[in-house]
Amino acid sequence: MAILKTEGVVLRGWRLSETSKILSVFTRDHGKIRVVAKGALGPKSKFRGCVESLAHIDMIYYDKRTRDLQLLSQTDLKDGHIRILGNTARTALGLAACELLDKAVLAEEPNPALFDMIVRYLGTMNEADGFLEGCLWYFEGHFIGMMGYQPTWDRCLDCGGSLGAGGGFFLPVNGGLLCRECGSRRGGLRIEGETLEILFWLQGAALEEASRLNPPSGLKAEIRKMFDLYFRTHIEHMRPLKSLAVYYGIGG
Ligand SMILES: [Zn+2]
Repeated sequence: MAILKTEGVVLRGWRLSETSKILSVFTRDHGKIRVVAKGALGPKSKFRGCVESLAHIDMIYYDKRTRDLQLLSQTDLKDGHIRILGNTARTALGLAACELLDKAVLAEEPNPALFDMIVRYLGTMNEADGFLEGCLWYFEGHFIGMMGYQPTWDRCLDCGGSLGAGGGFFLPVNGGLLCRECGSRRGGLRIEGETLEILFWLQGAALEEASRLNPPSGLKAEIRKMFDLYFRTHIEHMRPLKSLAVYYGIGG
């Protein structure tokens, strides 16, 4: 058994017993792990504030290779993201990214770049104003790239022609689009040129800039549908994100 010290983001948690909780934590050094936080639900918990979803923590835990569930020993709160938690839309968008990681990332595969991105994303969600869903699109777009299936937003998969203002047809399995001409023969999800422009722009933008987007509702719907379809094609057992249903439900 090893005693490990790392940084983590709590993706979700659920009750194990009267006083204890199980947490799914995405750690910087050891990837996604599950830990038991004994006494976390008791009145004098030493983990106070550190075992809630979205919390960014320093943590020490006992790791036993033969177990799926490790034992949490100590935590220290780095950021509880107070402003996110005080707002339903921010909470739903913050949780959507955590839910995506919880479902899509394989256990115990470290990915420090992805860890740094979720930390930056939650920090931005806590501080930025404007169109916050733009930050989620940034996260989703870059996440796809980090998982190794970055789509091509600017060229037709078949003829290589520039997609431009005419838009195209999205093929999630092939990781890209067909131009209008090629797509009219093979089909796919129709995507407008303006939508592609945003997706292409997000690839090169800074995370903080993403909240400056102000997309019309038709375009929003296309991007939402495109990401949903993409994740469900490439991630096993993926269903629409529950946190996003909450966000859409409050008119986000
Ligand atoms: Zn083409």
